[in-house]
Amino acid sequence: MKFIIILTISIILVSSTIPVFGEASYEILENRFYNQPITCIYEPNVPNARDVIIDAWMDETELGVKNWQYELRATEYNKKDKWNMEVQRISLEDQVYFDNKYCDVEIRFDATAPNASYAGVHWMENGKSQIRIVYTDLEVCKTWTEGYYRYTEWCYKEDYIRSKALGNIATHEFGHALGLEHYESDDPNENHDWSIDPYASPSVMTLAVHYDETKNKIRQLDIDKVKEIYDYWGFGELKETTPQDIPVFEGKNYGGFDSFFVPNSEYIKERGNVKFVTIGGLVSEQSFSRGQNILLTVEFPDGEKEEWKVLATTNRQFGAQMIVNEESQVGEYFLEAKYMGYDSEKISFSVLDGMTNTIQPKKETSIPNWIRNNAKWWASGTIEDRDFVMGVQYLAQQKIIRVDNTNIAPVDPNQEIPNWVRNNAKWWGNGLITDSDFVKGIQYLAQQGIIQVN
Ligand SMILES: [Zn+2]
Repeated sequence: MKFIIILTISIILVSSTIPVFGEASYEILENRFYNQPITCIYEPNVPNARDVIIDAWMDETELGVKNWQYELRATEYNKKDKWNMEVQRISLEDQVYFDNKYCDVEIRFDATAPNASYAGVHWMENGKSQIRIVYTDLEVCKTWTEGYYRYTEWCYKEDYIRSKALGNIATHEFGHALGLEHYESDDPNENHDWSIDPYASPSVMTLAVHYDETKNKIRQLDIDKVKEIYDYWGFGELKETTPQDIPVFEGKNYGGFDSFFVPNSEYIKERGNVKFVTIGGLVSEQSFSRGQNILLTVEFPDGEKEEWKVLATTNRQFGAQMIVNEESQVGEYFLEAKYMGYDSEKISFSVLDGMTNTIQPKKETSIPNWIRNNAKWWASGTIEDRDFVMGVQYLAQQKIIRVDNTNIAPVDPNQEIPNWVRNNAKWWGNGLITDSDFVKGIQYLAQQGIIQVN
């Protein structure tokens, strides 16, 4: 049998007077939302976990948060929208330059908690709710009773926690973000029994999550308590600003770099000789933030891209090295850097072939003009999605664009094409963004299973 204990930073006081057992209390915390909340869930970096596991954790966590919206809306006859909330998932890649200013709640994952003391935790920091969810499964190692109290010792199991349990923990911790304290009995045995009851817990805010995941739910008691905090107005209006989507696809935002360079514009590859290309730069005083990575993108002559993370030193300098040897591709290499939401200028250098003394011409990706027109028409609504998709499929068949086959979601034609892809198509059609920026949008659509290109 397993169940998972959940604690918060809020201190549980033990009354010094003689306790009257069996009384339950449900208090309210000091924090609450003053608008429709935006919750940011940060994808965890777990090197030995498969993508499907991580996806399941993210899905269940999002669902765990959104459960509050469903339940609150369900009890409203009109003006249901006042209980709306927004959930943003921040991929590992986007975390490098993600600006969290719109997040009211930030959810991150940890492998374990200190002393196996909780499976989830919530606290307030600079006016934002911080939530940590532990993904390694806990089990009871030892229980004992002293006087009126029941003690439990916890250990971690080898397994990653089941995603369903993560969703339940997210629901509970988000309850604290809403302003709910624990639903708690002054009888510790009763607090424990709620988690193993054949019926559901009286509240999703009990101290321990029910061992049966299906019996851990938001109850009317919880909804009533939330309405006691928010009253008639609900969460209020949606914030006017919405968080950035995927910043890579937005227009360029210069100003964060004082310099970005490679020392030479040409490097000659020679047999038995290794050369280093030192990529260096200086971030501006205004953008510098200790501990934040610079994302370097290298585009190889064959169009493949690679990304590296580099840390800026306290002198605001950063650097990375590439090797030029016999195996290096001949042609032009393009470099771009991103930092704290800023873009660098695009710079380049060439690798020349010193082994045969012939210099290969730079390979151009040529996207036919009719596709460019298609993109413009599609963006303005003149042609249908399927006509645009046909053009994209043509590009893939002709190997003009390449879509990474990994992480591709099954195709679901009912999914909508996000607005930013349409914008991208318009900008690209008008020559405002590069081919590779446009191709990124297409790759995103394929990876999300919105269109099929292969
Ligand atoms: Zn709690």
